[in-house]
Amino acid sequence: MFNDDPLWTLIYNEFIPEKEKHTEALCTIGNGYLGCRGAFEESVSSNHHYPGTYIAGLYNRRISKVGDRDIENEDFVNCPDWTFLNFKISGDSWFDILKGEILNYKKQLNLYDGTLLREIRFRHNSGNITKIQSIRCVSMTKAHLAAIQYRLTPENYSEKIYIKSALKGDIKNEGVERYKQLNQLHLQAKSGSIDGSTLFLEVTTAQSNITIVESAKHTLFLNENLISPIYTSANYDRYVEIDFEVDAEQGDTVSCEKIVGIYTSNDAGIDSPSQAVRELLNASGTFRNILEESSAKWHSIWEEIDIELNGDDRTQQILRVHAYNMMVCASFFNAEIDAAIPARGLHGEAYRGHVFWDEMFMFPFFNVHFPDISKSLLMYRYRRLNAARAYAKEYGYCGAMFPWQSGSDGREETQIVHLNPKSGKWGDDYSSLQRHISLAVAYNFWVYFKTTGDSDFYQDFGAEVLLDITKFWVSKCKRNPETNRYEIDKVMGPNEFHEMVPGATEGGIKDNAYTNILVAWLIGCAQETLEIVDENTRRRLRDTLSIQEGDIEKWDDVARNLNIIVKNDIISQYDGFLDLDELDWDHYRKKYGSIGRMDRILKAEGKSPDDYQLGKQADLIMTFFVLPLPIVESVLSQMGYTFNRDLLRKNYDYYIKRTSHGSTLSLIVHSYVAALLGDMETSIDWYDKSLDADIHDIQGGTTQEGIHAGLMGGTLNQLLTAYVGLDLWKDHVVINPRLPKKWRSCAFKFQFRGTKYTVTITQEAITVCVVSGEAEKNAIEINNHMYTLTIGNKLTVQLT
Ligand code: BGC
Repeated sequence: MFNDDPLWTLIYNEFIPEKEKHTEALCTIGNGYLGCRGAFEESVSSNHHYPGTYIAGLYNRRISKVGDRDIENEDFVNCPDWTFLNFKISGDSWFDILKGEILNYKKQLNLYDGTLLREIRFRHNSGNITKIQSIRCVSMTKAHLAAIQYRLTPENYSEKIYIKSALKGDIKNEGVERYKQLNQLHLQAKSGSIDGSTLFLEVTTAQSNITIVESAKHTLFLNENLISPIYTSANYDRYVEIDFEVDAEQGDTVSCEKIVGIYTSNDAGIDSPSQAVRELLNASGTFRNILEESSAKWHSIWEEIDIELNGDDRTQQILRVHAYNMMVCASFFNAEIDAAIPARGLHGEAYRGHVFWDEMFMFPFFNVHFPDISKSLLMYRYRRLNAARAYAKEYGYCGAMFPWQSGSDGREETQIVHLNPKSGKWGDDYSSLQRHISLAVAYNFWVYFKTTGDSDFYQDFGAEVLLDITKFWVSKCKRNPETNRYEIDKVMGPNEFHEMVPGATEGGIKDNAYTNILVAWLIGCAQETLEIVDENTRRRLRDTLSIQEGDIEKWDDVARNLNIIVKNDIISQYDGFLDLDELDWDHYRKKYGSIGRMDRILKAEGKSPDDYQLGKQADLIMTFFVLPLPIVESVLSQMGYTFNRDLLRKNYDYYIKRTSHGSTLSLIVHSYVAALLGDMETSIDWYDKSLDADIHDIQGGTTQEGIHAGLMGGTLNQLLTAYVGLDLWKDHVVINPRLPKKWRSCAFKFQFRGTKYTVTITQEAITVCVVSGEAEKNAIEINNHMYTLTIGNKLTVQLT
């Protein structure tokens, strides 16, 4: 079932070996519980292929020797490959796409159905021609179920055909080149068996001791007639296989349907994973049933998440790719899963599947479409609040300090040494000092609360997290007796290129403006929290977190007196940044072309990025991406600093010249802030780059290690906020449309505080309708005019 609509597909008509790993990441199918890269059924890990199956929250630790140090890393485990299938014609060798001639090739990710399809017509070196077709899905209705149909048609010969199917646990993590020197063997054998044509494999992770059970049942057909071919099977260490033998006449189609169940000992609500797998497969239904049910679920998801854009097919298609991938990363199944979204999705092994602040860019998508999914993801953080408390305590702080990189149990997972692929040398890694992650965690709870109005959840969970994070920050602030201002030292801002001040022997910089402004904002949210929660909750929170009157006074004092350094209207990224040397950007651009990773270039040249006014990504400018300008202005004004749109322009211009955009997140942040400044052309330029980032792998090799989930979420939110002008920061919906000229219209649905809206915007008018909701009347502000909408009401406002 190829889809003929290019706006609903990702399609590849040519097999380019060097680009195949990139394609595999983009063709990942999944359902929030598991993600499976779109590698060929016949492939194993090699120069051109990397099959990968990842289960949300499934990690394992290993110790590796780096020089004379023992380094511990927690990895996102590549689970046994359930997709493996291959064939051979009697007398020939197993199919290998590089040994013969590709007559036709088509690989398609069908976004609408959530399926991956491939069709190849292939002339083997023997002259035989075979049509090879496959279609697979990871079920969107049953979290643990996946299926593949594999079809072979001998076009010009009649022969015995052998089909091999396997569950391959004899693998290790090798999806990221620069981790290869580390110990990457995670799976240990437990048991393997074959019962009739059903394969069964059980492995355990070496340290986290999680049992992963996979089982595959097979049904074979000759031209749609069920057959029971002869088979042989084998069971090795972490590997089970079955080979079927079918006599095929020219023009026949032999198909093998492989239905797979996957459970682990981590899964909730089961007795044992092996029993759960058996029960699942017994009741799985046919391949067709699984495919149809899953596709129908995808269609209903699209009803909610699709943004229909007229006038720009490229953007339309890529936005669908991005929305699709959000749902691969997290779904309704997350209610039962204790995991959050890794920065690189369930699509690869970069950053070891760890969870960063990138979530901030993804939450808005879930908040307005499926708030229950946001809630499940936020619970990942709530469950790790005690670990964050222990982390704060370890460093002598109060409250809760979340780790920059988070994995299984919420401890700090950031590595302490980092390999520079440019120089081949290992160096210290201070990025765990990005304490602003705790601001992101609090922010995500707050924005969820503000968007959904879910005060029960906020009172039960969010408030506690936000207040404890506030306590951490206040304990980290130190008053400077000379200036009477509070300072925050030993942090890193979002600009990861700056790890320490020049000449220092320890990591960390002081008074990162992004951090300090957000801390002052957070304190305001904490104060508001204590006012809005009910009496019992207030008492409970004040007791459990031991918040005294004096503490609240101190918070206020901190929020009013945090230190920001301003010179000639430019807010310094941190104390000392503006005094650093300027980099000769032209020289480096000429010399290296791609200078995104200026840190690696400078280090390889024996220099330090700490010495230059150089940014990896938006840092100060990030502030205006996360908070509305009027809020930043008021936070700064309360701290005694004047700020306004003109100053934002000056600061944007200053920093953009000094930013290398070594992180894809930088693209969308600048796109947003340019739109905020009214510079729509620049904004769209950045937006186009953001859309290209993964589809065209603009960083030259990173997408194959996993998609940039934060950026994908960011592009979806950006359309709504920057271009539709949707603002959900007030108590009612605000829309100030600024649709880019090239777009004729845009239509979408969203939810705000329990009310569901549909919106259609053209260059001339906007139409809003309340589809459902609890409130009788819903206030909505469009271009500074207030309107009231009841359910079923349709409001059209002329824009020209
Ligand atoms: C960026 C971080 C980001 C991380 C994971 C890094 O390159 O600098 O801001 O959190 O990637 O995506």
